[in-house]
Amino acid sequence: MPPILISSDRFAEHQTPPGHPERPERAAVMDAVAARWRAAGCEVVAPREATREQLARVHDASYLHRLSETAGQAVALDPDTYTSPESYEIALLAAGAAVDAVERVLGATHTTAVALVRPPGHHAERNRAMGFCLFNNVAVAAAHARAMGAGRVAIVDFDVHHGNGTQHTFEKDSSVLYVSTHQYPYYPGTGGVDEVGAGDGAGFTVNVPLESGAVDADYRIAFDEIVLPVVRQFRPALILVSAGFDAHERDPLATMRLTADAFGAMTMGLRGVAEETCGGRMALVTEGGYDLQALAASLDQTIEALVVPPAEPFWPETSVASRRGRTAADRVKQAIAPFWKVQ
Ligand SMILES: [Zn+2]
Repeated sequence: MPPILISSDRFAEHQTPPGHPERPERAAVMDAVAARWRAAGCEVVAPREATREQLARVHDASYLHRLSETAGQAVALDPDTYTSPESYEIALLAAGAAVDAVERVLGATHTTAVALVRPPGHHAERNRAMGFCLFNNVAVAAAHARAMGAGRVAIVDFDVHHGNGTQHTFEKDSSVLYVSTHQYPYYPGTGGVDEVGAGDGAGFTVNVPLESGAVDADYRIAFDEIVLPVVRQFRPALILVSAGFDAHERDPLATMRLTADAFGAMTMGLRGVAEETCGGRMALVTEGGYDLQALAASLDQTIEALVVPPAEPFWPETSVASRRGRTAADRVKQAIAPFWKVQ
């Protein structure tokens, strides 16, 4: 069964200042991708707004109130994060799309779902907007999955930035695994190998920090040796993906060197683990990706990996692993050895 796509032509109404990377044109790219896959037979539906109850599982009441007061206004929430008069409503739709994706997949009407949203979410903290993010869409989705009865939820975040907000939301929670590959050191500064969770959540945060310049073959090492084995051992009821495309070689914000095919390979690898552990149940929520051409191509490869029959991930042979993948994988193995079997 092909993935269901959750998409809204209203996402462009969240306006950012001229020159801001999280520009409304990104929504037009996602609309065009959705339209192409609709023509190819995928169902595309519009999201509902997230409810206050759904958001309050992840965000403080005072923060929800503060954000609601930005409705109708253009405000700077932090040095990178802006609202236009429509943003509050659009952010509710973005978080709602992530919730809808979970409901489709756990409700068994679809096995996989992709929420094509902006603004992104993984930097948003419990009580703070940050890094273009208002609500933490994927965290709201994970909390919703738990509320629907999913015992264990894995979140894999391949956005080039570390998802500080998602990590902090679940770092003491053993029922939500957070695994991130990201450029490091880099914005937002978190995501070192030694950040492994705390209390009951010790071991359930896994960070794979990669040095600037990592290529497809480096990410392949990270996925084959860390990400996929850890998620497999966790045995989730659902895999959520923070699908950011800013590790692409064309991206203007970061300096990783992935091709569009690598996003397809990462998605297919995760799908394989989902088939083994949870009946293939996977919901993807978009995060960053600021080169429009790279965003379209990477998103296409990602969706294609959910449309075709499950297969071995296709990693392009065009890159040779640098030391970055090996160095990161070895360091992570040491850090997580008390919690996971990784060789
Ligand atoms: Zn990012």
